Amino acid sequence: SAGVIETDAVIVGAGPVGLFQVFELGLLEIKAHIIDSLAYPGGQCIELYPDKPIYDIPALPVVTGKELTDNLMKQIEPFGATFHLGQEVTTVEKQEDGRFFVATSKGTQFLTKTIFIAGGVGSFQPRTLKVDGIDKHEGSQVHYRVRKPEQFAGKNLLIVGGGDSALDWALNFCGGNEDGNPHKAESVILLHRRDGFRAAPASVAKMKELCDNYEMQFIVGQVTDLDEAEDGALKGVKVTGGDGVTRVVPCDQVLVFFGLSPKLGPIAEWGLALERKQILVDTEKFQTSVPGIFAVGDINTYPGKKKLILSGFHEAALAAFGAMPIINPEKRVHLQYTTTSPKLHKVLGVE
Ligand code: FAD
Repeated sequence: SAGVIETDAVIVGAGPVGLFQVFELGLLEIKAHIIDSLAYPGGQCIELYPDKPIYDIPALPVVTGKELTDNLMKQIEPFGATFHLGQEVTTVEKQEDGRFFVATSKGTQFLTKTIFIAGGVGSFQPRTLKVDGIDKHEGSQVHYRVRKPEQFAGKNLLIVGGGDSALDWALNFCGGNEDGNPHKAESVILLHRRDGFRAAPASVAKMKELCDNYEMQFIVGQVTDLDEAEDGALKGVKVTGGDGVTRVVPCDQVLVFFGLSPKLGPIAEWGLALERKQILVDTEKFQTSVPGIFAVGDINTYPGKKKLILSGFHEAALAAFGAMPIINPEKRVHLQYTTTSPKLHKVLGVE
């Protein structure tokens, strides 16, 4: 149909290895579409350790997860890859003409000659609150991410969690953040299972100050049940405190920040040979059991595999060369140096 994007290469996952796959394909003049379920590139480096230093990237004595991602984004800029973020690749199906049909959770569709799965430990999904009957409130009164902060202005909020997201949003909706007060809630209650936080100490201090000033409330406990009105709407939740007593906490909206956990998810259903939830590949081309589908980075396995960024970079280079005969069978590919090759300079835009 008209909406289907036809392309040579689709990359599943925009972690460090997926990003570098864009570069290696780009040097061979292959344009790529790259998809990630997260709303931003960087994979684990951004989601799990943006400010932590990495010491084993060759020739970068120290670089944080965020810096590495920013550098990769800069390095791949000349190749104009198309990013499709905030959507999970759900479907991969081989077509009769040898190409693959790829579709995402947002309905984006591709017909592609090759696929590079750089899905890492899987796609990151928010961990949910495990309480009976909570599902039907998801999206209306129970939320695991904030898409439109303005929808919570003037509301009575219960924010659950003890990490940076929970603290940051609690402060934001209290008007306690530094960049003003764009979405002040009517009231904010922060609920965490213990009186200790995995968040920036400055945020914790700010939260305590706001509590001392009665601008927000902090409760130790866990949501154990819902308090629903007759029409089924949520009017509060039942919280079992550290003292074992269960109390009703009234609220309009519940925001849960339990972090993200990676799920292999749909990748397991694409008919690829797996070994302990990793995709089996050869070490010549990093091709999977399905010709035309390659797997690079943390998602793959082979004898001696080490889940390191530098290994993923190497795999991406060989996968790109390995894909050339499928994408462009007529073209002979010679290894060229970026230092000296006028052709690569042209491709890189550095003439
Ligand atoms: P990831 O970074 O996991 O990215 C995969 C991406 O694919 C994710 O963004 C995910 O959302 C997306 N995805 C998955 N499935 C789908 C789908 N179906 N549809 C759409 N998107 C999908 N390595 C080092 O080399 N040196 C270090 O010092 C180091 N320190 C680390 C410290 C910590 C705390 C952690 C957790 C890891 C560290 N690592 C380190 C490991 C390193 O982060 C990983 O090896 C690297 O991130 C793997 O990159 P990747 O691109 O293969 O996968």
